[in-house]
Amino acid sequence: MTAAMMKRFENRTVIVTGAASGIGRASAIRFAQEGARVVLVDREQSALQAVLNELSGSGHEIAALDVRDEPNVTALVDRVAADHGAIHVLCNNAGIAGGDYAPVTDNDLDTWRDVVDVNLFGTMHFTRAVSRHMRDAGAGAIVNTASVAGVRSGAGGNAYSASKAAVINLTQTSACDLGQYNVRVNAVCPGLVKTGMTKPVFDYAEANDKTHKLGTRCELRRYGRPEELAAAITFLASDDASFITGQALPVDGGNTASLNMPG
Ligand code: NAD
Repeated sequence: MTAAMMKRFENRTVIVTGAASGIGRASAIRFAQEGARVVLVDREQSALQAVLNELSGSGHEIAALDVRDEPNVTALVDRVAADHGAIHVLCNNAGIAGGDYAPVTDNDLDTWRDVVDVNLFGTMHFTRAVSRHMRDAGAGAIVNTASVAGVRSGAGGNAYSASKAAVINLTQTSACDLGQYNVRVNAVCPGLVKTGMTKPVFDYAEANDKTHKLGTRCELRRYGRPEELAAAITFLASDDASFITGQALPVDGGNTASLNMPG
């Protein structure tokens, strides 16, 4: 069966954060292709509208808000649950990188707080609000977008890595809290993927004739596409993953499997 023919999310309501770009956009498109009603969350109305226009099917909606804004997050979640009767899937995908790499000695505290606020608190805000409805319904699946940077250092700055390690731990602890209610919680850990977030990396490589180096620290010798993450995210959100919870799945072309020895 081809992906386009699968309808794993028919009559299901799915919230995707960070849906205006990159991995979130690709995930929203894939969920819609598979029959879901998608609630697309991101910061800007116009960017969300553009993705909404690309979605197949009907019943989708957009919500322009900041994942750091807990009262607005909870109000949105409660309203969606009331309108649709249930929230079947939550994808906590919104995230920021936090600018240029800086060693721990030079950490900028405002940057650190920003990264943790968006990547960790944003994930926690949505998880807290949505999991209450999933608990009461006795079903649900949550997929968090973590990172290979949360598994070990070496990609992004230390605020980003620490925030993503915390997202992996939040995935595990939430899975333990919610398993008894038939709510599964998993994460994907992307390697390097070409998106808005990594545009500076690709721009730098292009400007310095280094594009051939991108992805060489990955066993498949290439970088990933947002659609490849969307495939893993929708798998973990679907009934195909019905006995999988508390896991952080690397989707990284083998990056974390490798020792990455020099030479
Ligand atoms: P992206 O920049 O294309 O998409 C991220 C989206 O999140 C943007 O649309 C942005 O507006 C939104 N966002 C950021 N802060 C927000 C906030 N406070 N409130 C609401 N929305 C907000 O980047 P992407 O690569 O698609 O990132 C998606 C996720 O994947 C992120 O969590 C990122 O950390 C993770 N990730 C990406 C890579 C990669 O190589 N691209 C690797 C590992 C992990």
